[in-house]
Amino acid sequence: MDFLLNDEQLQLQKSVRDFAQREIAPNVMKWDEAGEFPLQTIKELGQLGLMGIVFPQELGGAGMGYVEYVTAIDELSRVDGSVGIIVAAHTSLCSNHIFLAGNDEQRKKYVSKLATGEYIGAWGLTEPSSGSDAGSARMMAHRKGATWVLNGNKTFCTNGHYADVVVVIAVTDRAAHTHGLSAFIVEKGTKGFHPGKKENKLGLRASDTAELIFEDCVIPAENLLGREGNGFIDAMQVLDGGRISIAALSLGMAQGAYEAALDYSKQRKQFGKSISEFQAIQWKLADMATEIEAARLLTMRAASMKDAGLKTTLESSMAKLYASEVAVRCANEGVQIHGGYGFIKDYPAEKYYRDVKLCTIGEGTSEIQRLVIARQLLKD
Ligand SMILES: Cc1cc2nc3c(=O)[nH]c(=O)nc-3n(C[C@H](O)[C@H](O)[C@H](O)COP(=O)(O)OP(=O)(O)OC[C@H]3O[C@@H](n4cnc5c(N)ncnc54)[C@H](O)[C@@H]3O)c2cc1C
Repeated sequence: MDFLLNDEQLQLQKSVRDFAQREIAPNVMKWDEAGEFPLQTIKELGQLGLMGIVFPQELGGAGMGYVEYVTAIDELSRVDGSVGIIVAAHTSLCSNHIFLAGNDEQRKKYVSKLATGEYIGAWGLTEPSSGSDAGSARMMAHRKGATWVLNGNKTFCTNGHYADVVVVIAVTDRAAHTHGLSAFIVEKGTKGFHPGKKENKLGLRASDTAELIFEDCVIPAENLLGREGNGFIDAMQVLDGGRISIAALSLGMAQGAYEAALDYSKQRKQFGKSISEFQAIQWKLADMATEIEAARLLTMRAASMKDAGLKTTLESSMAKLYASEVAVRCANEGVQIHGGYGFIKDYPAEKYYRDVKLCTIGEGTSEIQRLVIARQLLKD
């Protein structure tokens, strides 16, 4: 058992940290206030090989694994969770679904462009009336000759307005319930498909969260992704990886909130001494640091297991549940340690507090993670 990153992983961590400090940190509040998608920065991440870390080099990826992917998402999110979620939804949802379920042609056509960042990807499972109960999706796909015709709406789709390629799950056989759901690849500009409302959000405001609208959208038959009727099952496997990335997003934001609070506690003086000298503040910092390390161990364990080719449904959910709840607690304590200054936008604490809440909701709420964990525990 090895708890340390190797030299190559440490080098990756340093280069992502340097990039985030140099290119992202100066813009974070500007992007947040304006709700501005950092397109140029995402393209630069593509040039650095960070939009396809987990994919093979022959498909344009960096040929690394989930441990490296977690390391990169952690470092990006430590500075800006919006950048973290953009990269995460692109990589472990859209691109990974095509990589996992796609045929050679689909992998060559799409993964190679997604992995280099030439294309941005989005993934639509959630609908207005089916969130946690994703198997009750209503969007329809009818076979018509050599085409599929898509009708319906997806909601809360990360990267929706900026995606060159979206993967969506639709009903191909209503009577078969979750075995009647299939996945499809839709390219930007396809007639009958357009992104709809851009959500005005509490946090992660520089990430794009959009409705996707399909009205008699005709796509070629070869854009069926995976086997017909296997879309939901594949989506659940995709989420096993996706949840590791939400754990990494949580870790990064928790770490950022903790570091901001630690620095502030050393500078802020009350009653003639730094507030870090008060035991009440020290205990908060000690709890934050300890819980972040525990969350990191769970997340890295799930990532290592995934890299070893093992099934991680249980471990991914445990990591996502714990890391997201730790992150919410750390961001809350971060604001508390800043006192009134935690409530204003001159300090980073308030942004972590707003951003981090998504982590207990996206890719399955904490309640759903507990349900997944309990099912895994009880199944034998
Ligand atoms: C910023 C953002 C980005 C997102 N990005 C994407 C994306 O890229 N692609 C995508 O497909 N989706 C995306 N989502 C959607 C996200 O995955 C869903 O919001 C989430 O799964 C919850 O679904 P819901 O919002 O419909 O809540 P609901 O399912 O309506 O849940 C409401 C409440 O009921 C609880 N609940 C529901 N069922 C149960 C149960 N059986 N037992 C106990 N409690 C239960 C939930 O835990 C929650 O507390 C995104 C959401 C947000 C906010």
